[in-house]
Amino acid sequence: MINPQPQASHFVDGAWLEDAAGAALAVIHPATGAEIAHLHEATPAVIDAALAAATRAQADWAQRSGAERGRVLRRAADLIRARNRALSELETLDTGKPLQETLVADASSAADALEYFGGLAATLTGEHIPLGANWAYTIREPLGVCVGIGAWNYPTQIACWKAAPALACGNAMVFKPSEETPLCALQIAEILVEAGAPAGLFNVVQGRGAVGAALVSDPRVAKVSLTGSVPTGARVYAAAAAGMKHVTMELGGKSPLIVFEDADLDDAVGGAILGNFYSSGQVCSNGTRVFVHRALREAFLARLTERLAGVVMGDPLDEATNFGPLVSAAQRDKVMGFITRAQAEGARLVCGGTIPDRPGFFVTPTVFADVTDDMEVARDEVFGPVMSVLDFDSEEEVLARANATEFGLSAGVFTRDLTRAHRVIARLQAGTCFINSYNDAPVEVPFGGTKASGVGRENARAAIEHYSQLKSVFVRMGPVEAPY
Ligand code: NDP
Repeated sequence: MINPQPQASHFVDGAWLEDAAGAALAVIHPATGAEIAHLHEATPAVIDAALAAATRAQADWAQRSGAERGRVLRRAADLIRARNRALSELETLDTGKPLQETLVADASSAADALEYFGGLAATLTGEHIPLGANWAYTIREPLGVCVGIGAWNYPTQIACWKAAPALACGNAMVFKPSEETPLCALQIAEILVEAGAPAGLFNVVQGRGAVGAALVSDPRVAKVSLTGSVPTGARVYAAAAAGMKHVTMELGGKSPLIVFEDADLDDAVGGAILGNFYSSGQVCSNGTRVFVHRALREAFLARLTERLAGVVMGDPLDEATNFGPLVSAAQRDKVMGFITRAQAEGARLVCGGTIPDRPGFFVTPTVFADVTDDMEVARDEVFGPVMSVLDFDSEEEVLARANATEFGLSAGVFTRDLTRAHRVIARLQAGTCFINSYNDAPVEVPFGGTKASGVGRENARAAIEHYSQLKSVFVRMGPVEAPY
């Protein structure tokens, strides 16, 4: 078993760095409540060292060929895959997510991103634009030093979904993990150096929001990519705008999952389970408003309840466990507050809604039926294992209700009618959609939100646009005709 206590709190300029003057950060294992590591927040000196190192490294890295940059990223992907078990155990200790999940969804997703963008690095080119006798060309340039700020649900994946396209394009990065889950990004930083990344190319500094805010406002920073909640996104976006910096905002959601009367019942129930209870519901793209056609509602609830008997809640390090705790006591209490208020508002508790009698920050998988659009549980992001089932009668009605939200991250449709599936998806206001599936996030497909759920896209070629800029060069082939 990996020792969760890292060599130091930060990884800066290619080496572990400690500054005990920083405020204490205790790392708690969510399944037991025990402290497993002790870190310090970054002091202004650590933040400055990280930004100085990134600035220096970026100048060198940008001069390397795309093929050379890509090789480093692909080597890092191989190292991550080779150490998948140790990294997954660490992720489980840090987040509380079951090892059954982390073994397949975290370090491996990080490796996918490094491999994919490592492959793209050598293909990043500008274009030639013929203009009659003259011509122009474009050069795809890096932005400079990028700041990545992560949420606590997918720490390794978030670090690499940001770092991989950033580094492929010739940028450097300073990454601040969530204070709740600071451990795995440090391992990624060390692996990148082992893979041949120059010192300072990818730095990790720890801290709460104030450290993130200091990074975002630093004039050396050209771009900020945040994964977090909408209120934090609004603050960070405003701070970045003051410095005219580029941003990617991957924020929260309250996504609709629509189950039509002709859907395959088990597939729809499976999609709703994946879209509400994976990672104990701490997934931004979750389909937490499950609109079920009235004709199918009771069958859906019955089958859902049957299948939830398959939940194995327990020690997340036990590979038989398929349902873990929430990340913190605060998050558990927040989720329980939503559950209490949903009942007070008249939602019908079908199952769950309790704190089990065991250590750690667990909440049982919770399903509410008879949820109406005006209830808090149908409007606000819970970020926990709480599914709201809402009834509907017609396609027009469900479309209007599904879109009546400030969020626009994801949406899903279960139906056997292919024409309807595409027709409905085309009208749903969401950036990342699913037909007869839910929450797949392969690196080849752009991921991101519309409306309050975000700006920009991660993954796929689309991410390149958000980590590079074009320089246009006009070339005159004849004499310059000036009027005087
Ligand atoms: P928060 O918004 O609370 O925090 C996100 C990150 O921002 C943390 O690292 C936080 O630090 C940091 N931060 C807080 N304030 C500032 C500030 N003023 N300036 C700079 N950085 C700051 O989100 P959570 O960690 O609670 O994560 C849950 C949220 O993330 C949910 O809303 C979820 O939907 C969203 N999310 C979105 C995803 C997407 O891709 N769309 C994916 C995963 C999650 P600290 O925590 O240390 O205070």
